[in-house]
Amino acid sequence: RDLHSFPTRRSSDLKSKTAFDEAKKYIPGGVNSPVRAFKNVGTYPLFIERANGSKIYDIDGNEYIDYVGSWGPMFLGHCKEIVLEAVKEACDKGMSFGAPCLAETELAKRICSLVPCVDVVRMVNSGTEATMSAIRLARGYTGRNIIIKFEGCYHGHSDSLLIKAGSGAATFGGASSAGVPEDFAKYTLVLPYNNIDAIEDAFEKMGNEIAGVIIEPVAGNMGVVPPKDGYLQKIREITKKYGSVFIVDEVMTGFRLSASGAIGRFGLDADIVTFGKIIGGGMPVGAYGGKREIMEFVSPTGPVYQAGTLSGNPLAMAAGNAQIKYLQENPYIYEEIEQKGAYLEGEFKKSAEKYGVNVRVNRVGSMMSVFFTDNDVTNFETASKSDTEKFKVYFNEMLKQGIYLAPSQFESLFLSDAHTKADLEKTAAAFDKVMEILR
Ligand code: PMP
Repeated sequence: RDLHSFPTRRSSDLKSKTAFDEAKKYIPGGVNSPVRAFKNVGTYPLFIERANGSKIYDIDGNEYIDYVGSWGPMFLGHCKEIVLEAVKEACDKGMSFGAPCLAETELAKRICSLVPCVDVVRMVNSGTEATMSAIRLARGYTGRNIIIKFEGCYHGHSDSLLIKAGSGAATFGGASSAGVPEDFAKYTLVLPYNNIDAIEDAFEKMGNEIAGVIIEPVAGNMGVVPPKDGYLQKIREITKKYGSVFIVDEVMTGFRLSASGAIGRFGLDADIVTFGKIIGGGMPVGAYGGKREIMEFVSPTGPVYQAGTLSGNPLAMAAGNAQIKYLQENPYIYEEIEQKGAYLEGEFKKSAEKYGVNVRVNRVGSMMSVFFTDNDVTNFETASKSDTEKFKVYFNEMLKQGIYLAPSQFESLFLSDAHTKADLEKTAAAFDKVMEILR
């Protein structure tokens, strides 16, 4: 079957197509973040007019069940009343002060009380800022230069972290982007995910030069890839032994995989934890926090400089406080969302089996990916074997049926508290049709 022949043009959303053409005249590629361009799935993006609960609406008036959720933060669904109210109230008092406000301490206190290894936390404005600051801190604290990251893990677009691996075992990666000097890239060591030998090897060879290790505790940026049993704990052990800083990047998993993120879900200890998205309820936010002894190396108490005019912005803090408070007060959400995930996973697998389509469904809680492969997906190499032409058909056919998924094989589907049983059933039925096409 020629998968290239599947139509990816639609007649129902021509206003989006026109809007995209217009945007391209004034914005590079028409978008302010690359994956939004839908390039990977051979089509043009929807322009969104509004969203509510589990649904988003494009400018042609089409309704979709949204499994992107602004790439994670809309964990309670769009336009959650208590979050909107909190922002409106804060708005009336002023948009930004560049001076301390009580809401910052309130959010910091919530994060510290929920995440065991976070004693103090610094607010920033994005996940990229959080991870970039965390690795500067790791370097400043240890006086060492080398950072270890893992192939297929994304930690934002700062120079030191936009590095990918070569094939095989440990390699000093080349940059994943033009404009990153090789001199920066040489301080980032890239290892395969879920491979304990690789990390032991690296530390044996150069443990005393390694400032820190940064990891997605459940990878979401190569599609969902769970950590093998004991893998994260092993990294904790080895970083402790060598005096390296262990950074757990919870930008995607924080407050999602449990009320205390992956750290809570896996009973993990870390030196620094990075957050984003979800702690701002949809407003631009990030944060990094951890052990007091390390965090006090940050200015103004310590020598590692980091600052931000809009950091701790009162509107962002208001949204974050409302969302996190709601999660604290309604822990049943985590059980329910687990069940929703299990239901979708089960239905997807049933349909794939019924039509004999080779897929692997990886899921941890409310994060899930469908890979079109018959290999288990445990790292970037195995994720890369997925048939992206089939993914393209899956994405476009789901979209036609009113299901809005992340437009790339190497992303997660995000469930929210707002997804209803009817949403899930409609999604399962749509998936069944896609499997019939792909059989
Ligand atoms: N870390 C992880 C694990 C992420 O998934 C992302 C973005 N998806 C980032 C960092 C960067 O966050 P931002 O896009 O807010 O800069």
